[in-house]
Amino acid sequence: MDKVLLKKLGDPEAHKIDNYVKAGGYKALGMALKMPPDNIIQAVKDSGLRGRGGAGFSTGLKWSFIPKDPTIKKFLCCNADEGEPGTFKDRGIIDWDPHLLIEGMIIASYAIGAAKSYIYIRGEFALGAARLDAAIKEAYAKGYLGPNVMGTGFNHDMFVHRGFGAYICGEETALLESIEGFRAQPRKKPPFPALAGLYSKPTVINNVETLSCIPAIIERGAKWFSSIGPEKSPGPKIFCVSGHVKKPGLYELPMGTTLREIIFNHAGGMLTEKPLKAVIPGGVSAPMLTEKDLDTSMDFDSLAAKGTMLGSGAVVVMDSSACMVKTAYIINRFFSHESCGKCTPCRDGTPWLTNILMRLEHGEGKQGDVELLEGLCANIFGRTFCPLGDGAVMALRGALKNFRNEFEYHAKTGRCLG
Ligand code: SF4
Repeated sequence: MDKVLLKKLGDPEAHKIDNYVKAGGYKALGMALKMPPDNIIQAVKDSGLRGRGGAGFSTGLKWSFIPKDPTIKKFLCCNADEGEPGTFKDRGIIDWDPHLLIEGMIIASYAIGAAKSYIYIRGEFALGAARLDAAIKEAYAKGYLGPNVMGTGFNHDMFVHRGFGAYICGEETALLESIEGFRAQPRKKPPFPALAGLYSKPTVINNVETLSCIPAIIERGAKWFSSIGPEKSPGPKIFCVSGHVKKPGLYELPMGTTLREIIFNHAGGMLTEKPLKAVIPGGVSAPMLTEKDLDTSMDFDSLAAKGTMLGSGAVVVMDSSACMVKTAYIINRFFSHESCGKCTPCRDGTPWLTNILMRLEHGEGKQGDVELLEGLCANIFGRTFCPLGDGAVMALRGALKNFRNEFEYHAKTGRCLG
């Protein structure tokens, strides 16, 4: 498969508009602006593209929920707030190929009838924000943004909005609150953003990788896109591989590539002679898998069937030296630190889990701690206002399911098993 999303990775000049246009950039926008907006939405639906931010919802279907009434203001927001440990895929596009994202966003905005769009980027991504600001300026100068885009009568303005580094800002409604200038906490749904989003107007929120697939779908066709990977989860996918592998990094591969291929063919295999013990397939909220699951196809449905998820496509590999109690403690500490405090099960439950895991890890655990963790998980899961609380529990449950003996050993002896 030739690369679609990361083809400019490592090219220090690729972010400049002249080089982007020379390589065929903004051709898809020209094609899209000649199409009726509904045909673009249909093409994206036919391509089978599913959101790459984690939820895996059909992108075309999401766009189709936006009211067609031209008198209603609409917005497009790009979620560039990636902040989960192990996830660094969107930066690979933003830093090296910002015009790919911008082109995808203009096409998406035209399809849904949005005259304004926002890129919500994590505050720490200084290089990415600077690259986007510069690229947007270039796009205005060349007539791809602003009034009368490419002489078609379509008007569009794009803005970069820098966040302040809270993980919850990646939750779509908290992101909207943050753009509006409020404390980033999730909103009650319904109403969903497609009806009442930014400034209470219909809004589409898509991830960077999702929007960056759009130019290729327009240019090469929905059929080409849907022929890559599994029928129900097609297209290219960026996997971020980290942990105990020889070549950690970003890999753009067909959706459905197996974990074994990703780790051993692309990421160079295990870092040392130590065998693989566990792998997190889709960011730290995804329940971990073990060696026996390595032939699982990395797509939304196959991973769901295994009780885990594709999430952001962040593959974290651990060898036999990794203590699962310590791993669970570190992951849980992250979630408890990032809890926005809006609902009690997450605000009070995740620090409680962290405290128990901390005492187990520090050799101060007690008999009954494992059962207490399980009881707390049961009381948090499904009772939180947004998916962050569930994510914390799913990660811990995955560790307990596969490595319960390590937690029990810690509780009994105060030490690691083996
Ligand atoms: Fe906030 Fe956590 Fe509740 Fe989500 S689950 S609303 S992050 S307190």
